[in-house]
Amino acid sequence: MIMKQAAITHPRRVERLVAGQATSDGAGVKLTRLLTHDLQRRLDPFLMLDAFKTDKPEDYIAGFPSHPHRGFETVTYMIAGRMRHRDNAGHEGLLQNGDVQWMTAGRGIVHSEMPEQEDGAMEGFQLWLNLAAKDKMSPPWYRDIKSADIPEFTAPEGARVRVIAGGSHGVTGAIERPVTLPLYLDIHLGAGQSYAQELPAAYNVFVCVYRGEATVGGTAIGERKMALLANDPEADGVVLGAAAPARALLIAGMPLNEPIAQYGPFVMNTQQEIYQAIADFQHGAF
Ligand code: MN
Repeated sequence: MIMKQAAITHPRRVERLVAGQATSDGAGVKLTRLLTHDLQRRLDPFLMLDAFKTDKPEDYIAGFPSHPHRGFETVTYMIAGRMRHRDNAGHEGLLQNGDVQWMTAGRGIVHSEMPEQEDGAMEGFQLWLNLAAKDKMSPPWYRDIKSADIPEFTAPEGARVRVIAGGSHGVTGAIERPVTLPLYLDIHLGAGQSYAQELPAAYNVFVCVYRGEATVGGTAIGERKMALLANDPEADGVVLGAAAPARALLIAGMPLNEPIAQYGPFVMNTQQEIYQAIADFQHGAF
């Protein structure tokens, strides 16, 4: 198949670089929160992005014991390491190098995410994607996608692209979601390569570099940094470049423009719905 290079006439520029906040979650897993609470409105429909990368077992061994979620989806992308998931509906899955888990918490799920290794590197990302008000109380659903089942293509300019969600260059991703229509690409750039991606102007878009350094519109994005891309009504896409080999996640989606009410792992539209979520969880209704 001959792929046509995307013709971007009005590429997006970097609005802001974000270094994230070092924090810990679960039972003490050290991570960097790149998409923090204060960016939820700006990056609607995305609520959170955590990056974890360590080769010290004490940073990850405690894992994320049993905890609830309601009202949104979690997307876990393991770059390296092994993590086992178990939920209260009896589902279980093992995520390892390059695998993705897409979980729709919907009206409620209680699960654990625990490392299945006692040493070695653990690296990956967890993205939280909001659900539309009408979908927040939908039945829970999840899918484990093996690395080999994630569609990939080589772009005309040479980059290797893994299509985790959405579609690009005629390749349909592992997951497609309604309403927010997320695009989630893992882009591997070789030295001197560029990559052009068409994007609707209405999308909120960010880039997270996890190997080397990439550029967007002349702005360098360093390793472990995130770049928010500007929303310009004229913009028709983004062009990434790299002088030396680099890897970056390109994440984009259609904003919901609905109220966001969050209390920890519950993300609803109103405070009343948050009280209800807490009560339902405490009464074992998940
Ligand atoms: Mn969880």
